[in-house]
Amino acid sequence: MPHRGWRCVDIEELEEQDHLCEMCEARLVRFVHVMENDRYDSELRVGCVCAGNMEEDLEGARRRESSFKSGRARRTRWLSRKWRTSSAGNEYLNTTDGFNVVIFRRAVIWGARVEHRASGHSRSSKRPYATSDAAKLAAFDAMLGMKHAEPWRRARSQSLD
Ligand SMILES: [Zn+2]
Repeated sequence: MPHRGWRCVDIEELEEQDHLCEMCEARLVRFVHVMENDRYDSELRVGCVCAGNMEEDLEGARRRESSFKSGRARRTRWLSRKWRTSSAGNEYLNTTDGFNVVIFRRAVIWGARVEHRASGHSRSSKRPYATSDAAKLAAFDAMLGMKHAEPWRRARSQSLD
């Protein structure tokens, strides 16, 4: 198994702290960092410290885990936020980090649109949702993905960090 060249491709929260880290096989973890290496066939599902050692950036792994945790906590509060109603009758929310989220209904299904206001980038739900809550959670996940992946991130970190 290679010691270098690992990168994290995903991070997940489990129901319980019961996954044995596949690198050290010594620590039970709840937050699983999924690690990939071009020279190794399968992914390894490991804890934060091992992930940091594998990518030779322990601080980076800790930052990733703590920002993931705060995102999860925010997701549980998301549905109970004070959603407003637009003149067209759609529920919407403007977040403090610059996104406009709109939930809309088409016949019997629900959809969502997330727009990054400063850049005008937006995403709309591709799948239909059975309830407005489901559409809101999908919108939240899309928003987090947009925050971490899209090109304006560079501009944003230049102006804010
Ligand atoms: Zn480990």
